[in-house]
Amino acid sequence: MKVTIDKDLCIDCGVCEALVPEVFSINDEGFTEVILNPVPEELQDAVREAAEECATEAIIIEED
Ligand code: SF4
Repeated sequence: MKVTIDKDLCIDCGVCEALVPEVFSINDEGFTEVILNPVPEELQDAVREAAEECATEAIIIEED
């Protein structure tokens, strides 16, 4: 699984970082980044949940 964030849609709300801090992180400039890609198997369900929880549908998942 690969995951990206659509920066035009993301509002840097922190929800995805709260759910999966191993994969999503708000950087020093306040922007949310993917810090682990591809996503390891054990975190994939959590990333799918984060994508569902993202209010702006900014998390784009590319399944293997
Ligand atoms: S949950 Fe969505 S809008 Fe919020 S920081 Fe993550 S990608 Fe951005």
